[in-house]
Parts: sequence; structure tokens; C-alpha cells
Amino acid sequence: MSRIRARFWDPTGQRYALPTWPWRMAPPHLLTRRQLTAAGLRPGGQDVQGQVLWSSRRYRARGGVRVAFLYDVRLALPKRAATVRQRAALAKANATRRTCPECLRDVGYVLSHRLGICNDCAEQAAA
Ligand SMILES: [Zn+2]
Repeated sequence: MSRIRARFWDPTGQRYALPTWPWRMAPPHLLTRRQLTAAGLRPGGQDVQGQVLWSSRRYRARGGVRVAFLYDVRLALPKRAATVRQRAALAKANATRRTCPECLRDVGYVLSHRLGICNDCAEQAAA
């Protein structure tokens, strides 16, 4: 094992307080949140079970070490799908964000916070 890899090799968590592996060396049952999502899973309230550390030249300003937290796939739960009522509430909230309080139209885009009204109304107000 190279020196750079040995630096992040700490499966017992003695050095880093969390079980730690170098890039691509974590055991297969530990996945990142992104990997869980791709598998249709969520952490399900479990604590972080470990981490992957790796050096990145692009992150030199932040010490050059990046971290990815890992969750145990055996404790993961299926992703929750929004219920019909939740989806209806979201659709309503989004419609409100697209509706201009001036001309009361659903303009088809989310209104700018700065203007607070649709672009047409803002243009008219400016003229
Ligand atoms: Zn308007």
C-alpha cells in the first residue's frame, strides 16, 4: 500500500474517530448517500458509519482532503415517495410562486424575489 493510502487507512477509527478508508477501499456494504439514492434507498436515521478520505489538489485551500460519509446499506430504508396529497400541495405552492400578484396570471416561471411581480408588469412599471 502506498504511503498516501496508508494515511487514510483506519478501519477501526482509532486515528479519525470514524472508521476511515482511502478512495475506493471502503467495504462494499458502506455506501455514500448518493449511492444509496441511486439504489432507491435513504440512510433511514442511522448515524454515519464511516468515511472515505482522499487528497484532492482542487481542494488545497481546504487542507486538500475531501471526505465522503458512508452509511450501512443493511440499515438503509426505501426512499419515501410523496403521497398524492403531498404532491398536490407542492404543485399548489409552485403555482403560487409562478403567479403574479399584479396581473394574477400564472406566468410559467418563478417570479423574481427582487421584482416580486412578473417581468411584463415590472417592464410596465418601469416605463
Ligand atoms: Zn404581472
